[in-house]
Amino acid sequence: MFKVRLHLVVYRYEIILAFIILILTGSIAVSSRDNERAFPPVQRYPYKIAITFDDGPHQKYTKELLAFLKKYNIKATFFVVGDQVIKYPQLARLISLYGHEIENHTTTHPNLTKLPEKNIKEELVMTRELIKNIAEQKSKYFRPPGGHYDNKVIEVAKDLGLRMVLWTVFPKDHGNTQADIISERILEQAHDGGVILLHSGSKQTLEALPKVIKELRYRGYHFVTISQLHNSNKEKELVWLK
Ligand SMILES: [Zn+2]
Repeated sequence: MFKVRLHLVVYRYEIILAFIILILTGSIAVSSRDNERAFPPVQRYPYKIAITFDDGPHQKYTKELLAFLKKYNIKATFFVVGDQVIKYPQLARLISLYGHEIENHTTTHPNLTKLPEKNIKEELVMTRELIKNIAEQKSKYFRPPGGHYDNKVIEVAKDLGLRMVLWTVFPKDHGNTQADIISERILEQAHDGGVILLHSGSKQTLEALPKVIKELRYRGYHFVTISQLHNSNKEKELVWLK
């Protein structure tokens, strides 16, 4: 009788030991509701979204923005203005050193539809060269200032090897829009394959970002650059790409 009981006790310890080994080696996942909240369900919902920042580099906010993006391990796309790159070359270089994509937002931020072909070309070529020489990146896309474009603009850019990028998520973060309104608009409009248009010189944008990033991550979004979003959808017709 005693022998049988001893045998059972030893047997129970063997089972407990086996479970400990399985947990330690990762064969059994310990999960709870809390863990689910802490680790977003990215595997179940591999949505992609691109964050883009226009009009920089910005003297006051670019460094802060770069620190924020680094903290959250996000790579974004910066549509820079050539004149700003000339004014703040070290900031343009820094954007590149932090691993972000730099693309073309013209040299003087004009309405391109109002310019003759020659000037459209100059606006794009000058900034393309600045991006190449200062940020050491080969730009492949441009965004027309104010979203103004026509067929002539698209064709001139195409001849220079630049595709036009628009956006699909537009929170209107310029001007005096409050941070909570900006984040609300982004979260309302966000969708798989989306392109979010934001601006480099907006304090409210910086304030809106933490909430946006946390919530989108929780919903299962991955943040990608314009090139990455384009390359992963090469076979599709994209509304934001012309
Ligand atoms: Zn702009």
